[in-house]
Amino acid sequence: MIGKSLRVRVAHRQYRWLLAMGLLLGISALVVQANLQRMLVADLPQNIKAEALRSPLPYTTSGFRRTLKRLNAPEGQQPHQNRLPTQFQGQIIRGVTLPSHQKAIALTFDDGPWPKTTATVLDILRHHNVKATFFVLGSNGVQYPDLLKRIAQEGHAIGNHTWNHGYHYHSPALAQREIQLTQQVIAKYTGLQTALFRPPGGYLKNGLVAHAHASQQATILWTVDDTYSGSVDKAVKNVLQHAKSGGIVLLHDGGGDRKLTIQALPHIIRKLQQQGYQLVTIPELLEMATTEKANS
Ligand SMILES: [Zn+2]
Repeated sequence: MIGKSLRVRVAHRQYRWLLAMGLLLGISALVVQANLQRMLVADLPQNIKAEALRSPLPYTTSGFRRTLKRLNAPEGQQPHQNRLPTQFQGQIIRGVTLPSHQKAIALTFDDGPWPKTTATVLDILRHHNVKATFFVLGSNGVQYPDLLKRIAQEGHAIGNHTWNHGYHYHSPALAQREIQLTQQVIAKYTGLQTALFRPPGGYLKNGLVAHAHASQQATILWTVDDTYSGSVDKAVKNVLQHAKSGGIVLLHDGGGDRKLTIQALPHIIRKLQQQGYQLVTIPELLEMATTEKANS
């Protein structure tokens, strides 16, 4: 009788010990996971945290060689203007200075072409008779060539946003591949030779901008960043509060759920126009700045 009760007590104690160990392991796992998440966020610049975490972009490095082969036979469209004034070649541009009698701003859309969203953005722009600039990913361009063609056909400018949208360090060879391959996709489907480059996440020191600089392309940053959460009202106010002549507005048509941008876009266009802004493409904005410098 005594022996049995002792065995029960020992078994009970072992069970409690196992439970405590299990609990400890569970807590440790949670702490490790939280730290990893914090490290991931800490690696990204402040302004792109929400975008990067919410909309991971496709990674298709292995598809490079296959795609290059396919691109060897261009469709023979005639290239037309996507001009970069020579004084901006190899420069980093965060907006330009325009004279007081000029009031212009450029809307730019990143991470497309993207199913549904890009077409809707194009519809809205056409409805308001506005031209913008699309910084596209090569990997999306080959997936949605009809959208890429439509962007160019409707008179918008097209810039290069790399093939894979990577934030990590790029060796000179990889940077060249990311940028050149995307240029080839743009040229193949639109006929446009673009020298406008926008680094993913605005990173300037991971090897991509070094290649853009060396190959005389202009790195186009922005003066107004997109809003990734909140209300349509907040998204509109964000652009209007930071709008200025010679400015560049960063918006997104690809890379995830862009409902907020789509809903805010007609209001953004209307309010900017009401305030007297002319909405222009990046080449047009640079041209305006160039003409002014030449005249002064
Ligand atoms: Zn992007």
